Amino acid sequence: MDNRRYRKKESPLHATLRRIWETSKGLLLIVLALVLVLIIVLLISKKNSSEPADEKPTEAVVKHKTPTPVSPDKDTTATPEPVTEAPTATPTPTPYPIGLCESVTTDTEAEPIARDNWPVDYLMLVNWDYRLKYSGNPENLVRVDSVLTESWYQIQNPILVKEADRNFVIETEDDKYDRGNRVALEHLDEMCKAYHEATGYGVKVSQTGAYRNYATQDRFWNRRDKSINPPRVVPGNASEHRTGLGFDVWVLDGEKYDYKWLHAHCHEYGFILRYPSDKTKITGVTYEQWHFRYVGIEAATEIHNLGMCLEEYVKYKNGRE
Ligand SMILES: [Zn+2]
Repeated sequence: MDNRRYRKKESPLHATLRRIWETSKGLLLIVLALVLVLIIVLLISKKNSSEPADEKPTEAVVKHKTPTPVSPDKDTTATPEPVTEAPTATPTPTPYPIGLCESVTTDTEAEPIARDNWPVDYLMLVNWDYRLKYSGNPENLVRVDSVLTESWYQIQNPILVKEADRNFVIETEDDKYDRGNRVALEHLDEMCKAYHEATGYGVKVSQTGAYRNYATQDRFWNRRDKSINPPRVVPGNASEHRTGLGFDVWVLDGEKYDYKWLHAHCHEYGFILRYPSDKTKITGVTYEQWHFRYVGIEAATEIHNLGMCLEEYVKYKNGRE
């Protein structure tokens, strides 16, 4: 009785829902069943695709957890994975640091390779630790007298040089002439002209004081005065005279050999005093007040202001200090 009364009092919403349920009961059940089947199929396919990934770590864990029964040979078979990954990250080419250009090597035992026109860098370091790779002539090498034409410049008779210096033997037609880097010579011309105007004296670049080929420089080394230490001469692949950028400049001021003006002003023309008296421990070469090296005006001025030698400057520029 009570139930019937309650049923009669139900809301219109409940009544319509119940009517829908009674009329389309079968259809709703079929839809529900289909949805369930779809969910089950999806779950099974997902489980199948993730199965191989799940297997791998368990294998690895087993290998690592049992070190005692595994032989050393088997252990190494497990490591190649990280090893093969490392090389792919490193092949980016590193640029040459300042001072160490393509023509220079830090391998002091390396045999020189025959090559002409090898590239020159104005800041290239050539010394005991930085050796020239090549035995041929550098690029941009021209005869000194083709650039230095002013009256203040004196060219030394090569035959007289030969007689005066037993170390120097003219071997080829090219050896009869002083040569140097064209750009460096143009600046040397300007510097010597200014020196002449300021002091009234001239200069001399001797036959042996500009570019030297490998054979000549090596002969100098082999016949050096072994009582001078550190030596004044360096081996064939360790001399910057071979670059065409280094010049022995002799002032023609009688017997005074006063280099003050050149030392004070050479940087204005792109030159540095390559072997200063207070840097012999760093350069490994005794004081040479006559040896000037072309590095370009900007670098020469900076080197002058910092009071450094080329070795120190190259280190400084590479940010190593
Ligand atoms: Zn020199």
